[in-house]
Amino acid sequence: MLVYLLALCIIISNMKKQKILIVGGGFGGVKAALGLVDDPRFEVTLVSDMPDLRYYPTLYHTATGGKNANSSIPLARIFYGKEITLAHGTATTIDRKFKVVSTEQGQSYSYDSVVLALGVVTNFFGIPGMKEYAYSIKTQSEVARFKAHLHQQLIQEEKLDAHYVIVGAGPTGIELAGALPAYLREIASSHGLRTAKPHVDLIEAAPRLLPRFPKDMSRAVKRRLKRLGVKLYLGSAVQATSAEELTVNGKPIRSHSVIWTAGVTNHPFFTANNFVLMARGKVAVDTFLQTEENIFVVGDNANTPYSGLAQTAIHDGATVAANIRRKASGKNMKSYVAKAPISVIPAGNKWAAVQWGKITISGYMGWVLREAADFIGFKDIEPLDRATKQFMTEFERDDACKVCIAAGSPAF
Ligand SMILES: Cc1cc2nc3c(=O)[nH]c(=O)nc-3n(C[C@H](O)[C@H](O)[C@H](O)COP(=O)(O)OP(=O)(O)OC[C@H]3O[C@@H](n4cnc5c(N)ncnc54)[C@H](O)[C@@H]3O)c2cc1C
Repeated sequence: MLVYLLALCIIISNMKKQKILIVGGGFGGVKAALGLVDDPRFEVTLVSDMPDLRYYPTLYHTATGGKNANSSIPLARIFYGKEITLAHGTATTIDRKFKVVSTEQGQSYSYDSVVLALGVVTNFFGIPGMKEYAYSIKTQSEVARFKAHLHQQLIQEEKLDAHYVIVGAGPTGIELAGALPAYLREIASSHGLRTAKPHVDLIEAAPRLLPRFPKDMSRAVKRRLKRLGVKLYLGSAVQATSAEELTVNGKPIRSHSVIWTAGVTNHPFFTANNFVLMARGKVAVDTFLQTEENIFVVGDNANTPYSGLAQTAIHDGATVAANIRRKASGKNMKSYVAKAPISVIPAGNKWAAVQWGKITISGYMGWVLREAADFIGFKDIEPLDRATKQFMTEFERDDACKVCIAAGSPAF
């Protein structure tokens, strides 16, 4: 028996390994890689333009006093001790004939199968001034820039901005609008403004908050934000913004702090490389999430029913990894089954709205479910001990503010 096992090991180790290239180190790419790295039949390479997995669901928390580590998981840590090549690079082209993906940095990576998981990019819909003057919270560096602005303004002007305006009442806009008033009060107080009252405005072009979610959820969130003192502009179009003010429905709102959360579009890689695109610019995929033979597309990039959610990207990555393993075993690939998500949207301290099928839950219980969802999210990526540590970063204080330190301000 032992001899047979030994012989089998020798045969496997002498077999030519299949090259699996994964492009994009976010939810979909990381999950696909995790599903393949322990299989000796594959040589796995993960190319990403960032050294970490950006944990988007907690970015709003990092933007409002949470630790940077809470929304960033280093790829080197996720794959510690695993047989994988982690490469830094920005993919620009794919050569289907020679099966090679090339990067802006001049590197080329060959593949037998490739998984594309590049995520989406911000779209300002051509609104004048938005790209130049608005803040975003889609990356750690954008979050750092936004926080630096808030502190800089308090140091220089010794008062709060006239208005803090969030554009877009989708999940990100709601999360930020819920947490921002308390954060502004906290930092204003630490800068000596103990009675300052921030004006936080939320603007949405659709007639209701969370236009893509059920009405019950919109109503619950609306009540909550009003209670937190957030001013809502529904059915309101932003026409332009400048360094001094934002124009909404033809009227100005004075603000140096406009935060754009209203739009994303698919990654330009796909148009640049002539992929077949569907509604909202998503890539057409077959029932195995393949767009062409041996080219898989997952997560936000793929045209699937629940594309645009981390839960979907994780499910897609796991499905594709399982199918690549099945194919290598000479089995038929299994058809993709879309998984209906559970939506959990926090709005302020210990409050969240949850949509689970037809049921809406809001309040403290919603927040408990949100905590559970985050823990499961971390656990989907790392083993229990590391996932627990990652989860606990939520309860740690913000990193020291570099702007305040540089200005010699005691407040940070
Ligand atoms: C602020 C915010 C909050 C969110 N909150 C939630 C939530 O609470 N729940 C939920 O389910 N979903 C949430 N989402 C959506 C969710 O984060 C996405 O659906 C999910 O990240 C998609 O996973 P992905 O793998 O397709 O893309 P991503 O996770 O975006 O990963 C793409 C990766 O590719 C890298 N990359 C980009 N371009 C290149 C290139 N040219 N070459 C190499 N690498 C590249 C990126 O740096 C990134 O690492 C939120 C999104 C945002 C922006």
